[in-house]
Amino acid sequence: MKKCPYCRKCFSPHVKVGDRQKTCGGDKCQKALKADNNKKWRQKNPTYFKDDYLRIKAWLEEHPGYLSDYRKSHPEYVGKNRDSQKVRDRGKKIYLDIQAQLKSHAADITKQLWEPSDLDIQAQLDIQPLEITFLFSTIPCLDIQVPFDRSSCVGDNSPICARRSGLCT
Ligand SMILES: [Zn+2]
Repeated sequence: MKKCPYCRKCFSPHVKVGDRQKTCGGDKCQKALKADNNKKWRQKNPTYFKDDYLRIKAWLEEHPGYLSDYRKSHPEYVGKNRDSQKVRDRGKKIYLDIQAQLKSHAADITKQLWEPSDLDIQAQLDIQPLEITFLFSTIPCLDIQVPFDRSSCVGDNSPICARRSGLCT
Protein backbone atom coordinates (compact mmCIF):
# COMPACT_ATOMS: atom_id res chain seq x y z
CA MET A 1 0.00 0.00 0.00
CA LYS A 2 1.14 3.54 -0.78
CA LYS A 3 -0.17 6.91 0.27
CA CYS A 4 -1.19 9.40 -2.42
CA PRO A 5 0.70 12.66 -1.76
CA TYR A 6 -2.23 14.72 -3.07
CA CYS A 7 -5.41 13.29 -1.57
CA ARG A 8 -3.60 11.41 1.25
CA LYS A 9 -5.62 8.26 0.57
CA CYS A 10 -3.98 4.86 0.63
CA PHE A 11 -3.88 2.90 -2.60
CA SER A 12 -2.31 -0.25 -3.97
CA PRO A 13 -0.23 0.52 -7.06
CA HIS A 14 -1.06 -1.17 -10.34
CA VAL A 15 0.82 -4.48 -10.61
CA LYS A 16 2.60 -3.47 -13.83
CA VAL A 17 3.50 0.02 -12.62
CA GLY A 18 4.49 -0.86 -9.10
CA ASP A 19 6.70 1.59 -7.27
CA ARG A 20 6.75 4.05 -10.16
CA GLN A 21 3.09 4.91 -9.52
CA LYS A 22 3.10 8.19 -7.63
CA THR A 23 -0.61 8.93 -7.18
CA CYS A 24 -3.79 7.04 -6.39
CA GLY A 25 -4.71 7.47 -10.06
CA GLY A 26 -7.59 9.83 -9.37
CA ASP A 27 -8.14 12.49 -12.02
CA LYS A 28 -7.34 15.44 -9.76
CA CYS A 29 -4.27 13.77 -8.26
CA GLN A 30 -2.88 12.87 -11.68
CA LYS A 31 -3.38 16.42 -12.89
CA ALA A 32 -1.73 17.79 -9.75
CA LEU A 33 1.27 15.48 -10.28
CA LYS A 34 1.53 16.56 -13.92
CA ALA A 35 1.41 20.23 -12.91
CA ASP A 36 4.13 19.63 -10.30
CA ASN A 37 6.33 17.83 -12.82
CA ASN A 38 5.82 20.60 -15.37
CA LYS A 39 6.75 23.19 -12.76
CA LYS A 40 9.92 21.30 -11.83
CA TRP A 41 10.81 20.96 -15.51
CA ARG A 42 10.31 24.70 -16.14
CA GLN A 43 12.52 25.51 -13.16
CA LYS A 44 15.24 23.26 -14.58
CA ASN A 45 14.84 24.76 -18.08
CA PRO A 46 14.07 28.41 -17.38
CA THR A 47 14.94 29.69 -20.87
CA TYR A 48 13.18 27.00 -22.87
CA PHE A 49 10.00 28.99 -23.54
CA LYS A 50 11.77 32.31 -23.78
CA ASP A 51 11.96 33.76 -27.29
CA ASP A 52 9.45 31.13 -28.35
CA TYR A 53 6.95 33.70 -29.56
CA LEU A 54 7.99 33.60 -33.24
CA ARG A 55 7.80 29.80 -33.44
CA ILE A 56 4.31 29.79 -31.89
CA LYS A 57 3.18 32.67 -34.08
CA ALA A 58 4.32 30.84 -37.23
CA TRP A 59 2.64 27.62 -36.10
CA LEU A 60 -0.64 29.43 -35.38
CA GLU A 61 -0.51 31.06 -38.81
CA GLU A 62 -0.23 27.60 -40.36
CA HIS A 63 -3.21 26.39 -38.31
CA PRO A 64 -5.87 29.07 -38.73
CA GLY A 65 -8.81 28.75 -36.37
CA TYR A 66 -6.90 26.57 -33.90
CA LEU A 67 -6.81 29.19 -31.18
CA SER A 68 -10.44 30.27 -31.49
CA ASP A 69 -11.57 26.62 -31.48
CA TYR A 70 -9.40 25.97 -28.43
CA ARG A 71 -10.87 28.96 -26.63
CA LYS A 72 -14.42 27.83 -27.47
CA SER A 73 -13.80 24.32 -26.14
CA HIS A 74 -11.82 25.46 -23.05
CA PRO A 75 -13.85 28.16 -21.29
CA GLU A 76 -11.82 27.67 -18.09
CA TYR A 77 -8.65 28.58 -20.02
CA VAL A 78 -10.29 31.77 -21.29
CA GLY A 79 -11.46 32.67 -17.78
CA LYS A 80 -8.04 32.04 -16.26
CA ASN A 81 -6.35 34.12 -18.96
CA ARG A 82 -8.82 36.95 -18.49
CA ASP A 83 -8.19 36.99 -14.74
CA SER A 84 -4.39 37.02 -15.18
CA GLN A 85 -4.69 39.83 -17.72
CA LYS A 86 -6.80 41.83 -15.24
CA VAL A 87 -4.06 41.45 -12.63
CA ARG A 88 -1.42 42.55 -15.16
CA ASP A 89 -3.56 45.53 -16.24
CA ARG A 90 -4.05 46.56 -12.62
CA GLY A 91 -0.28 46.53 -12.07
CA LYS A 92 0.23 48.61 -15.19
CA LYS A 93 -2.47 51.08 -14.15
CA ILE A 94 -0.88 51.62 -10.74
CA TYR A 95 2.46 52.26 -12.44
CA LEU A 96 0.90 54.71 -14.92
CA ASP A 97 -1.00 56.45 -12.11
CA ILE A 98 2.24 57.01 -10.22
CA GLN A 99 3.93 58.31 -13.35
CA ALA A 100 1.00 60.66 -14.09
CA GLN A 101 0.91 61.86 -10.50
CA LEU A 102 4.62 62.62 -10.54
CA LYS A 103 4.30 64.44 -13.84
CA SER A 104 1.33 66.55 -12.80
CA HIS A 105 2.91 67.42 -9.46
CA ALA A 106 6.41 68.02 -10.76
CA ALA A 107 5.95 71.79 -11.10
CA ASP A 108 4.38 72.12 -7.63
CA ILE A 109 7.00 69.97 -6.03
CA THR A 110 9.86 71.88 -7.61
CA LYS A 111 8.27 75.19 -6.68
CA GLN A 112 7.75 74.12 -3.07
CA LEU A 113 11.32 72.96 -2.89
CA TRP A 114 12.89 76.17 -4.07
CA GLU A 115 10.65 78.52 -2.11
CA PRO A 116 12.72 79.49 0.96
CA SER A 117 9.78 79.06 3.39
CA ASP A 118 9.39 75.45 2.34
CA LEU A 119 13.00 74.54 2.87
CA ASP A 120 12.34 73.79 6.51
CA ILE A 121 12.69 70.04 6.82
CA GLN A 122 9.60 69.77 9.05
CA ALA A 123 7.47 71.45 6.39
CA GLN A 124 8.79 69.01 3.80
CA LEU A 125 7.59 66.10 5.89
CA ASP A 126 3.99 67.21 5.39
CA ILE A 127 4.32 66.29 1.73
CA GLN A 128 3.12 62.86 0.70
CA PRO A 129 5.77 60.11 0.84
CA LEU A 130 5.56 59.74 -2.93
CA GLU A 131 6.45 63.37 -3.38
CA ILE A 132 9.27 63.13 -0.91
CA THR A 133 10.71 60.26 -2.91
CA PHE A 134 10.36 62.33 -6.03
CA LEU A 135 12.00 65.33 -4.38
CA PHE A 136 14.99 63.42 -3.19
CA SER A 137 15.42 61.67 -6.50
CA THR A 138 15.42 64.92 -8.50
CA ILE A 139 17.95 66.93 -6.53
CA PRO A 140 21.47 65.88 -7.41
CA CYS A 141 23.03 66.95 -4.11
CA LEU A 142 20.52 64.89 -2.10
CA ASP A 143 21.29 61.70 -3.92
CA ILE A 144 24.06 60.07 -1.95
CA GLN A 145 24.66 57.63 -4.82
CA VAL A 146 25.82 60.49 -7.05
CA PRO A 147 29.26 61.74 -6.13
CA PHE A 148 28.77 64.98 -4.26
CA ASP A 149 29.37 68.10 -6.26
CA ARG A 150 29.42 71.33 -4.27
CA SER A 151 28.76 73.48 -7.30
CA SER A 152 25.44 71.74 -7.94
CA CYS A 153 24.26 72.74 -4.50
CA VAL A 154 22.65 76.16 -4.61
CA GLY A 155 23.08 78.27 -1.46
CA ASP A 156 19.39 78.29 -0.51
CA ASN A 157 19.33 74.52 -0.52
CA SER A 158 22.24 74.03 1.82
CA PRO A 159 20.26 73.25 5.02
CA ILE A 160 18.76 70.19 3.38
CA CYS A 161 22.06 69.17 1.85
CA ALA A 162 23.81 69.40 5.17
CA ARG A 163 21.23 67.21 6.83
CA ARG A 164 21.05 64.61 4.11
CA SER A 165 24.63 64.22 3.07
CA GLY A 166 26.62 65.67 5.95
CA LEU A 167 29.02 67.05 3.38
CA CYS A 168 27.62 70.44 2.46
CA THR A 169 28.40 73.32 4.82
ZN1 LIG B 1 -4.92 10.81 -4.78
